[in-house]
Amino acid sequence: PAATLSALIADLGDVPVVTERKQVKRRSRDFYWYSPILNEELAGKFADVIVAPRTEADVVRTAAACAKHRVPLTPRGAATGNYGQCMPLHGGVLLDMNALDRIEWLKPGACRVGPGMVMSDMDAETQEKGFELRMHPSTKRRATIGGFVAGGSGGIGSVTYGGLREKGNILAARIVTMEETPRIIELRGDAAQNINRAYGTTGIITALEMPLAPAWDWIELIVTFETFGEAMVFADDVAHADGIVKKLLSPIAWPLPTAFRAVRDACPDGQAILIAMVAEASLESFRELLAGRGEITLERPASDAPGQEPLYEYTWNHTTLQMLKGDRTVTYLQCLHPRSRALESVAEMAARFPDEILPHCEFIRFRGEVGVSGLPVVRFTTPERLNEIIAVHEASGVTIANPHVATLEDGGGEKRADADQLGFKRDVDPFGLLNPGKMRTYVPERA
Ligand code: FAD
Repeated sequence: PAATLSALIADLGDVPVVTERKQVKRRSRDFYWYSPILNEELAGKFADVIVAPRTEADVVRTAAACAKHRVPLTPRGAATGNYGQCMPLHGGVLLDMNALDRIEWLKPGACRVGPGMVMSDMDAETQEKGFELRMHPSTKRRATIGGFVAGGSGGIGSVTYGGLREKGNILAARIVTMEETPRIIELRGDAAQNINRAYGTTGIITALEMPLAPAWDWIELIVTFETFGEAMVFADDVAHADGIVKKLLSPIAWPLPTAFRAVRDACPDGQAILIAMVAEASLESFRELLAGRGEITLERPASDAPGQEPLYEYTWNHTTLQMLKGDRTVTYLQCLHPRSRALESVAEMAARFPDEILPHCEFIRFRGEVGVSGLPVVRFTTPERLNEIIAVHEASGVTIANPHVATLEDGGGEKRADADQLGFKRDVDPFGLLNPGKMRTYVPERA
């Protein structure tokens, strides 16, 4: 009610707020419209007010006021999530974390950073000292590190380091709890997994300690192949070649490259492509492995600078986005293929749905082994048909992280909340006010 909101805002003192309706509505959106199902389901979901803390003290004050008045709070980074992660299902405060955007310290192999820092800004700063993020999403030039840790999974770099879930890929997190007298807790090591991909339901992150990788001179390439199968086999060989330093291996089937306007010339009609990032020092070995198998049609130093679109913006979830620019009838799936027969499994699913599935894969490491994540573009007809396609994948041993649901339990490929995260939430969010509805199995003990 309006009275509660006014009382809340009064308690915030000089913490900046935005109440102008149009802005609040606009900023309550992310890329949920990728999914035709979520696009309908979340249509009327907006925050009531945006609060933009300048410091951790502002975050504490906001959490205290929300707990006191029992008003929901949903943290927001750059709002580039695909499943409505930062869209409040029950109104309340949208907490804009963008001002907490500084590197606190940087040493060889690690840094401590505010959650609102944009990942390409982080890399620009740490690369001067010879280091960079181990992995980043394809939205690196826009998305924040806090949003990645709380709402993402992995990306460019995961072919070497695995996803954020792998031990050692988040060193520590500092959080503010959602209580009338909020606590500040430092979560180190495994304890930091409590906030990983929890959609902000288990505490407001105010600092992150992230491990870094050596910053190589990366070369980005497009390699073409007669068939998608050949692109897959070559990518698999590079993924297994531990001596070749790489950051990205993305096989993409024809006709998906027809949507890649800026690099269309490098994608011959009818051919599959592989988008790769390889260290300059490994390029000779990469070429040697490629000899007689495919053609390099584009090769250039990788850069995040404005002007040139990095090739990684055609990979991961960007592949679907490029298609969506010209065709709003497509959507996608997120598949983890069985390790022992990943290449066969990808081929089987494509053959099973020849008119509906356009294959695109990402090579990743998964618990110490090469894994294949499928992000196929799917022609959408009805929700029932989409669920049928998902069911056939699951029956064939493919794990689906469903991108057409807004809850953690249904989207994670596990169908239940992470038990540790659920228990942790009881401690840090007793009233169930943090991004409510996203961890649907959580029932608050206190009203
Ligand atoms: P937001 O969308 O603002 O937030 C994400 C979640 O984090 C929300 O639940 C929010 O409540 C929570 N959150 C944000 N800040 C905090 C905080 N300080 N404390 C607690 N919770 C917080 N994801 C990948 O993992 N890999 C990819 O390669 C990838 N590619 C993408 C490509 C496209 C084209 C698009 C649209 C999305 C892609 N994504 C990908 C999803 C998304 O872009 C990333 O996960 C990104 O890192 C999210 O960051 P953000 O700042 O936009 O977070």
